[in-house]
Amino acid sequence: MNGLMQQHALLISTLLTHAERHHGDQEIVSRRVEGDVHRYTYRDLGERARRMANALAAHGISFGDRVATLAWNGYRHMELYYAVSGSGAVLHTLNPRLHPDQVVWIADHAEDQVLFFDLTFLPLIEAIAPRVKTIKAFVAMTDRTRMPSGSGVPNLLCYEDLIEAHAPDFAWPSFDENTASSLCYTSGTTGNPKGALYSHRSTVLHTYAAALPDALNCSARDVILPVVPMFHVNAWGLPYIACMVGAKLVFPGPWLDGKSLHDLFESEGVTVSAGVPTVWQGLLAYVEGNRKSFTTMRRTIIGGAACPPAMMSAFQDRYDVQVLHAWGMTELSPVGTVCTLKPKHQALDDDARRAIQAKQGRAVYGIDMKIVGEDGRELPHDGKASGELMVRGPWVISRYFKGEGGDPLVDGWFPTGDVSTIDPDGYMQITDRSKDVIKSGGEWIGSIDLENIAVAHPAVALAACIGTKHPKWDERPLLVVVKKPGADVTREELIASYEGKIAKWWTPDDVVFVDDIPLGATGKIQKNKLREMFKHHCLPTA
Ligand code: AMP
Repeated sequence: MNGLMQQHALLISTLLTHAERHHGDQEIVSRRVEGDVHRYTYRDLGERARRMANALAAHGISFGDRVATLAWNGYRHMELYYAVSGSGAVLHTLNPRLHPDQVVWIADHAEDQVLFFDLTFLPLIEAIAPRVKTIKAFVAMTDRTRMPSGSGVPNLLCYEDLIEAHAPDFAWPSFDENTASSLCYTSGTTGNPKGALYSHRSTVLHTYAAALPDALNCSARDVILPVVPMFHVNAWGLPYIACMVGAKLVFPGPWLDGKSLHDLFESEGVTVSAGVPTVWQGLLAYVEGNRKSFTTMRRTIIGGAACPPAMMSAFQDRYDVQVLHAWGMTELSPVGTVCTLKPKHQALDDDARRAIQAKQGRAVYGIDMKIVGEDGRELPHDGKASGELMVRGPWVISRYFKGEGGDPLVDGWFPTGDVSTIDPDGYMQITDRSKDVIKSGGEWIGSIDLENIAVAHPAVALAACIGTKHPKWDERPLLVVVKKPGADVTREELIASYEGKIAKWWTPDDVVFVDDIPLGATGKIQKNKLREMFKHHCLPTA
């Protein structure tokens, strides 16, 4: 017997319609690329998103087409989140920190039709425009007076002209909730970047779960400032959560340094923020160095990389800002676990409580987790056994866009490439990573690309690249090299050989020369052994 409840598709446009109707006067504040602070409301967001939806249709964007962005966190980007997905097209947020060759590769792979960009990225657009295969128009996210002249970018349109030229009447279409809504590529895998293609259903379910009190804990009484970029897994879902709960939103634009962020926190009364540890280091250094405090900030969500214990205690003990340590992945939309305490933990002493908070946390409802040993057998949740973390749930990928990499699932579970423990209370703690990628300041560096460049050098016989601990960036690449017999090359020469071939920040910080690199039975480099060998390696200071 079926239940007798109404069937309504879980569509992203319903989040905006809700915010417009029930929180129409709630503010959205953006520090703009143009340098000023822009303010408007959810009502304005709704109206402009509908104008943009009309503009997209007028320019031939149809159901399922990919619409790319290269943009900071700001209100125009937010409008595209809703205009594109709401009208049935797919929002593809490109990462501007990648090398132009990778941006071209990803845009071609996604078959993007239009690319919207903030003016900051004009040089990148100029570099990629002649090379991308499917993009028919580029839209500068600015007004007519600031449009670049003589840029040579073909089919260049002006965002504000499009808004002005199109009517605000647009009925958000209704369609199957499993329709693709947005696309985000991850470089956190081996081989080429792979696309996680989210659906309306997965996004709305993720929004419900991620907003919960024991997850990101967001409400209409909050003022949310996402530092995590909107090109990183949809800013961890905060642009959707804010609409669902009706919170005031504050966007920092490109100004992510400690002073700019702190000024904005204080002037806008921010209560919740979210970002990777690296960005909080800059903020804490500024606050400490200038004897500032946080007058309204109550919580900060830290994820993307492990939150260092010193950072946690600085926020909590010195500034009375609660740290929510969270773990997730592009493939998980991204929220998987959040570390909030249970009532029984209140009785613990500070050290014991801190030890729990250092963990990556408990699964939010919707995410099922287990850990498995090398033989694939499930390991106990005793807080001691560590194995590969596997997850499943309605906002976990079933496969990558266009089937890249084949079927990623093992018996219906997604292998995360993270190695962890799970304790009897369900708290997961990452202990290692089995995937051969390096995460620096919250961004992936592909070790294989770095190794390929190294072995192309005539003096190099074998090369392996691993991440080593770095106080600011969490991890930085270290290149381990075996020279060819009789050949010679210096550290400096090898580092110089990366020039122009990769994004500059991917360049290895150091090179060590060794006689042998440990290989496994199948001839594969044993990165875990190398990581162990060089875990205390001291990287040169820049
Ligand atoms: P991304 O897909 O770029 O969001 O990266 C996901 C990966 O980042 C995870 O698989 C982990 O390796 C790492 N990660 C995310 N959050 C944490 C965390 N809180 N602690 C440690 N590693 C993390």
